[in-house]
Amino acid sequence: MRITGLTLLTMDPPGACVHGDLRIEGELITGIGDLAPDAGEHELDGRGLTAVPGFVQGHVHFCQTLFRGLADDLPLLKWLEQRIWPLEAAHTPASVRASAQLSVFELLSGGTTTVQVMESVHHAEESFAVAEESGLVTILGNCLMDRPDTKAPPALRQETGAAMALAAGLAERFDGRHGRMFYALSPRFILSCTDTLLREVARLAAARGLRIHTHCAEHKDEVAVVRAATGKGNLQALHDLGLLGPRTGLAHCVHLAEDERRLLRESGAAVLHCPSTNLKLGSGIAPVADYLARGIPVAIGADGAACNNRLDALTELRLAALLQKVSAGPEALPAIQALALATRDGARALGLDHLTGSLAPGKRADVNLFRLESPHLMPGGTPEARIVYAARPSDIAFTFLGGQVVAREGVCTALGASTVAEAARRELALLMQRAGSSR
Ligand SMILES: [Zn+2]
Repeated sequence: MRITGLTLLTMDPPGACVHGDLRIEGELITGIGDLAPDAGEHELDGRGLTAVPGFVQGHVHFCQTLFRGLADDLPLLKWLEQRIWPLEAAHTPASVRASAQLSVFELLSGGTTTVQVMESVHHAEESFAVAEESGLVTILGNCLMDRPDTKAPPALRQETGAAMALAAGLAERFDGRHGRMFYALSPRFILSCTDTLLREVARLAAARGLRIHTHCAEHKDEVAVVRAATGKGNLQALHDLGLLGPRTGLAHCVHLAEDERRLLRESGAAVLHCPSTNLKLGSGIAPVADYLARGIPVAIGADGAACNNRLDALTELRLAALLQKVSAGPEALPAIQALALATRDGARALGLDHLTGSLAPGKRADVNLFRLESPHLMPGGTPEARIVYAARPSDIAFTFLGGQVVAREGVCTALGASTVAEAARRELALLMQRAGSSR
């Protein structure tokens, strides 16, 4: 296929803008610029459309999308203990599948084509199967929780050896699948895991070259509990257990002391910044402009629908940019840098930039074609400013995932809206019965 007459924000490097055509063959981009037509190729008139790479999200929980609206207005530890853990404990394979499909529908509708996902303790293989069917570029993990002395329900507490055996088996099955699915060892957070398990995670990750995905320093109360238990900050504790390195992604990092920020930079680990969640749980504003100035890799993420309540990359982009203006001044995180967090730099932070994140021959054809001429986006401003500060999912005329159109005008076409919604309603009703809750 050749899409003609486009404006292309290639993000290679950020700020590069090309006027011309885009050629897609199979899953890949094979040409950019003034391209002569090839006999027999399909042609799409792209005049008036702006191409940007498909969005990358570094931190999402498919299994929590079913709980949207069921855990509002709580701080982190209460949110987990009173709502999320009991609900996750009531999941079955069917409810996890319905939750994952709801997630995929929403992600594709908002132009997200790459996502790192942390699932619950059980039935993660259902989410992995939905991810496989969807065609999304994914890093997947089932969360590990082996601490016996937490407030987690018994159904979510694992024995250390069994947790590691389950993780190793899923890594064997899914890591590297189709060249676009990868496995991340995903200890939930320090307070859910024994030191024995965390050391085993570091050992297995090093032995098999696996990624590590966890939560870190999200809320002040959590940081205080970690310090009381270990005598250290979150990041120092993770470092001392061998968990930090260039293949590690740390969701949040809202509260890191100066010495921990230096340690983070030296380790090469990435921050997975989730601004909506940080605001909704009252956790604070992550110092992302400072992290970027230090050269720390950053990706953005919507986190869970139970603490956001959207999975829309444009919402996170806009909020990420605006929040840094509050904390670091109005010149911090300009539009093009924010857009890079959701494309090239986000892909780099996840170790996926060899596949996606920019528009270049040889990269996957994961592309959003924006229509940036609607009244709410015009008349002035750069394409990146229109996208980051003003655009809505409905401004994405086409989303291509691996060369296939999966959404139009901000609505997923790869899955049926009514089928996905009906399955979610049915499975939520059953889940609430199992959880013994009427909400
Ligand atoms: Zn999370």
